[in-house]
Amino acid sequence: MSAVRPTQTDAEALLADGTTVGIRPLSPDDHGAVLELHAEGMSQDSLRMRFFGVSRNAPKQAADRLCGPPRTGLLALGAWAGDELIGEADCELLDEPAETAELALAVADRWHHRGAATLLLEHLVHAARAAGVRFFEADTLSGNRAVHRVFAHLGLPVERRYEQGEVRVRVPLDERDERYRSAVDERGRRADVASLTTLLRPASVAVVGASRRPGSVGRTVLDKIRQGGFAGPVRAVNPHAGEVDGEPAYPSVRALPEVPDLAVLAVPADAVPGVAEECGAAGVRALVVLTSGLGAQEARGLVRACRRHSMRLVGPNSLGMAQTDPAVRLDAEFGGAFPRPGTAGVAVQSGGVGIALLQRLAWLGVGVSSFVSLGDKYDVSGNDLLQWWESDGRTDLALLHLESFGSPRAFARTARRVTRTIPVLTVDAGRSTAGRRGAASHTAAAATPTVTREALFRQAGITATRSIDELVAAAALLHAQPPPAPRGAVAVVSNAGGIGILAADACAEAGLELPELPAELGGVLPPGASVRNPVDTTAAVNPLELTNLLRALENELAVDAILVCLVPTALGASTGQDPVYALLEGPARRRVPIVAVLLDQQVPVCYRTCADGGALPAYSDPVAAARALAHARDRARWLAEPPSPPVDAPDCDRRTARSLVDGYLTAHPGGGWLDPLSTADLLESYGLPLTTTVWARDEPTASAAATALRNLGHEGKVALKAYWPGLVHKSAAGAVRTGLAEDAEVRSAYREFMRRFGAELAGAVVQPMAAPGVELLAGVVQDQVFGPLIVLGLGGTATDVLDDRVARLAPLSERDLTTMVTELRSAPLLLGQRGGTAVDLAALRSVLTRLSLLAEDFPELVEADLNPVIVRPDGALCVDARIRLERRPSFDPYLRRLRRPAAAEGT
Ligand code: ADP
Ligand code: MG
Repeated sequence: MSAVRPTQTDAEALLADGTTVGIRPLSPDDHGAVLELHAEGMSQDSLRMRFFGVSRNAPKQAADRLCGPPRTGLLALGAWAGDELIGEADCELLDEPAETAELALAVADRWHHRGAATLLLEHLVHAARAAGVRFFEADTLSGNRAVHRVFAHLGLPVERRYEQGEVRVRVPLDERDERYRSAVDERGRRADVASLTTLLRPASVAVVGASRRPGSVGRTVLDKIRQGGFAGPVRAVNPHAGEVDGEPAYPSVRALPEVPDLAVLAVPADAVPGVAEECGAAGVRALVVLTSGLGAQEARGLVRACRRHSMRLVGPNSLGMAQTDPAVRLDAEFGGAFPRPGTAGVAVQSGGVGIALLQRLAWLGVGVSSFVSLGDKYDVSGNDLLQWWESDGRTDLALLHLESFGSPRAFARTARRVTRTIPVLTVDAGRSTAGRRGAASHTAAAATPTVTREALFRQAGITATRSIDELVAAAALLHAQPPPAPRGAVAVVSNAGGIGILAADACAEAGLELPELPAELGGVLPPGASVRNPVDTTAAVNPLELTNLLRALENELAVDAILVCLVPTALGASTGQDPVYALLEGPARRRVPIVAVLLDQQVPVCYRTCADGGALPAYSDPVAAARALAHARDRARWLAEPPSPPVDAPDCDRRTARSLVDGYLTAHPGGGWLDPLSTADLLESYGLPLTTTVWARDEPTASAAATALRNLGHEGKVALKAYWPGLVHKSAAGAVRTGLAEDAEVRSAYREFMRRFGAELAGAVVQPMAAPGVELLAGVVQDQVFGPLIVLGLGGTATDVLDDRVARLAPLSERDLTTMVTELRSAPLLLGQRGGTAVDLAALRSVLTRLSLLAEDFPELVEADLNPVIVRPDGALCVDARIRLERRPSFDPYLRRLRRPAAAEGT
């Protein structure tokens, strides 16, 4: 194909019914399989639809065409279930029209209606797009409803032309088509949920490696499943024991009286692949592997068995899982007590965190819908669980602990949808920030793992907390109380002034507003009380007064949340009128959320039941309460923002950019920094405003260029910058001269460069001086896993000193553009809030948009640093840019495929 880059690798993905199939390009070795697919897998009717009339030779012709020697212009993918080729999709480039490929599809009859054609087509779309194809075309018989349905549901716009019983279909492979993405998401969600059903709601379970020794892992899980009251049969498999705890043990999975849906493996690491294969061959549908310490070969064997036999896998190194639905009641974990049934979904990567989390939820009285200890996450991940909880009809709160992300962009996309309906909370296992300190560009230095993760959580609407206790504190509030209004203004009430001030400080530090309260409120309080926020009721407050105050505050429009902070006093004790009773005798469900801070409380957070039966979250520490309120406020803000479309700019010239990038990487296979002119060309192709930049190899050329450019420059001046490959910080090296007015200055500056840099000097660039403005840094760095991270910050010489930066992951939304600017500490400079004039925000947004699109379209662009972009009321202009390219395969983070655990990579 035009610019063929080999991108298609093997992948596994789920059919609509949850079956795992392998997808890979067809090769000459597959000739027999393709022949069989067409000759035996398809009826005469299907063949007629496929080939417009049946010739005896059709199957052989198809096999010859698809499995001949590799041909440029042909992409052919096959889908396999085990060793059976169940379908193929191919496209072959046409001579005319340009960038158009003829599409063909075939699926074995007995695999129809399971989404195989659509799945193949999605993968073919990805491969074809990466190879430069922009349209698929196909002739179909108008009676071929199946094929028309596939096209109709694909999500891409389809043009149809009718000609004598045939329909010519044309499908533009439109990049970033949101309808297509959503259609793919929806198919992915359904397939995922279908595949997880036998894992999370199995009808029968076996524990393989259930030992007779009480206290062993396998035995503990077996006992817990039995004691938990699992609804279906539970079998023990142990080749060394005839019975375990009085029940029969079976020598192998094959020997079981029925095929279990789920097998829990507690066998030694070296036995895992064999047992997994045996389970798969027997027809088991899901595995939970408790074993840890698998070597690379064992890891590969385990994953291969799961993929081959279509089993979803939790673990290895998992603590197990629990399903509390009374119709299932499966307690297949060895962590702690069987969680009480409820509505919180819990998934953790670390078993220890899981135990701690379940314990705290139990103390709090929040029940669990399902719990999964993901362990080493070879397959089932946080993304799967989010989709399960989204669909299980029982979960209204999702709690996640994730140490690593296999596919953060797919996760973020799922989370962005799920957080609209249920709160998703996570403990951010904050990685060290030391990672990239040595980086060569400011952008790369800013892109620490913490910054990247924060960007992910924030863009996905996930509530990210710093500790397990903070997570539980926030969950307690989100679970029991209504969300505050997005403004999140808090009224703080206390019966002891000093404590009230501490609580108010905690609120302010958490970024919550403390509105001024009307003085009339004082009317309900004892003498000496103060209604400034915080409200100090004095220790003399009686329950009736407190009740009236709360009622008044709840109806106060300036108030979006109430925090009541109470200390038990001798006054209350002697009269039997402890103010906490006023709180509990009132309603927990009010117009605004209400939380209590009870300083004599022993546990960090618990629920107190109020008169209306509602739960009042009570904290022992005002800081915990304030942070919980801030999280609730952030969630309210997230929900109040309508989903924002991804940014786009129609005039980006991808073809030119592609040839620049490919040209550079062909000449420099190891990658590297672009020279100033290639940098300028690449930026220009995406409409990024780099100032006029002229290359000069010697003094006379520099002088001539300066003369030509001087008129364009601010006050008729130019800048001269020395260049040689490898030069990083030009100013620091004395390689930048600005504000040159006279020819003599330019010449002497150039001679100075020659003296200082000697043979190293390759030449210099000449630019007109840009008019002064706010100097910003705009940059991109590609993370191998997270994709492009876009950074905006204060730039120029202030970059390092002030360290004022925000970051977002691509794709940026319109909303991201806005918040990137407003979240900078220097925002007032840009928005014109300090007496100045606002800068041209549209121009700045356009820079960020184009940078993000460039990075998304070119994974090869591993680093870009535009510093400074000078922004002014009349525009934005970059005067210094550096871009680094590296060969990277094209990668669609949203393509439906199962994860490939690093531990199981290789052959
Ligand atoms: P480096 O970042 O490698 O030190 P720059 O090209 O960014 O070199 O130049 C350093 C500073 O000089 C910029 O931050 C900017 O303030 C100023 N400068 C450079 N080129 C121009 C120009 N064409 N117009 C106005 N100011 C410039
Ligand atoms: Mg610079």
